[in-house]
Amino acid sequence: MLDGMRLALKPGLLPVWRDSNTLQIGIDSRRAVAVSGIGRTAALIGLLDGSRDHRAMIAAAGALGISAEVADRLITLLAAAGVLDDFPAGALRAVPDSLRSRLAPELATTSLAHGDGDGGARSLARRSGTYVRIYGAGKVGSCIATLLAAAGIGHVACRDAGQAFAADLAPAGLCEADIGEPRSAGAARAVRRTAPEVRTDDDTGQPDVAVLTGSHAPELAARLMADGVPHLTATAGEAIGIVGPLVIPGRSACLRCLDMTRAERDPAWPLVLAQLVERQPSTPACDCVLATSVAAQASGQVLTFVDRGGKADAVTNGTLELVLPGWQWRRRTWMPHADCGCASDAGG
Ligand SMILES: [Zn+2]
Repeated sequence: MLDGMRLALKPGLLPVWRDSNTLQIGIDSRRAVAVSGIGRTAALIGLLDGSRDHRAMIAAAGALGISAEVADRLITLLAAAGVLDDFPAGALRAVPDSLRSRLAPELATTSLAHGDGDGGARSLARRSGTYVRIYGAGKVGSCIATLLAAAGIGHVACRDAGQAFAADLAPAGLCEADIGEPRSAGAARAVRRTAPEVRTDDDTGQPDVAVLTGSHAPELAARLMADGVPHLTATAGEAIGIVGPLVIPGRSACLRCLDMTRAERDPAWPLVLAQLVERQPSTPACDCVLATSVAAQASGQVLTFVDRGGKADAVTNGTLELVLPGWQWRRRTWMPHADCGCASDAGG
């Protein structure tokens, strides 16, 4: 094991006894691992708290009368079972204490969900170095901004020329004091409430990822395509939530591909589409629960994209859709359209 790494049981897992000689780490069988015949080496489990590197663990085991060989075998076993984190001490030192404790549940989750053995250190580094710009700061957009900031995205900005109305207010989004203010300003305040360390003021430069909420002129998507900015759509209306597609310019179906496919299925679609530019019903059928569900799903997909180095399969060439009163998200596949020519690199 590398010096400078700190060994810890994954913090999201609780050790419990199955019998006097079998320790189970984690409760749910889809995460848990049982170590039988653990005997008195169980005393080592309590030392796996992230304060010791491998050498210090062996020394501490020796103080308890446990041989280096036995201690090393247990550590290797736990590491192979995927319940051990080897968090680089340097990554920990780089994070201020207050931020570290706030982000701990984020890191514990990504570490378990993706089976990372670094305690979420790589995800933390990627998130803190990422700039996400959200277009539209209504119920869905402002909620996405606060969720991404809370998850450790280092730079979140909202763009929305409109004014905040009562119908825009949402949990984790705009609050009453924002009514009458520009929506972007309210969303920036919401982000700062969530995460004082996040940059929200600087909205210049090229984002790493964009999220499109509400309705937008087609020129916006065209500009993001031209600039090579990956962009995810997240909308809620007519009591339906849709997250996706995530457009990775040149590599996956773009929004124009989807419209060309829709036009093949419904010849009137281009005429309908022309009437939708920057228009929406006076009262959108998007309640707080639907907006929050869409925001959570969209934020999860953005984080997957960031954490996994540019991959989010569920929304690449696809959309995730929730049709109320249903409870289940369903995926629809949308492949690049042969006549669009945007995704020539995708071979589609
Ligand atoms: Zn296309």
